[in-house]
Amino acid sequence: MVQLCRPCIQQKSKRRRDPPHSRLKAIGEARHLNSHIGASREQDYQCQNCGAIWLYDSDKGSSGWLLMASAT
Ligand SMILES: [Zn+2]
Repeated sequence: MVQLCRPCIQQKSKRRRDPPHSRLKAIGEARHLNSHIGASREQDYQCQNCGAIWLYDSDKGSSGWLLMASAT
């Protein structure tokens, strides 16, 4: 299993208000969601260093940056 690169390791401690690190590239379109607690936005990112997949979720109840998968 490939290790996360250093920026991805640091991304794990990032919060909802923090930006993606410089090697994270957005994949596809952002998804705009409406729920009873308000509108939010989800966006997938892939790291150009280590291949890790991240989900950014702007929902108030979310921690923001969720690691979905690391490279195989
Ligand atoms: Zn990475």
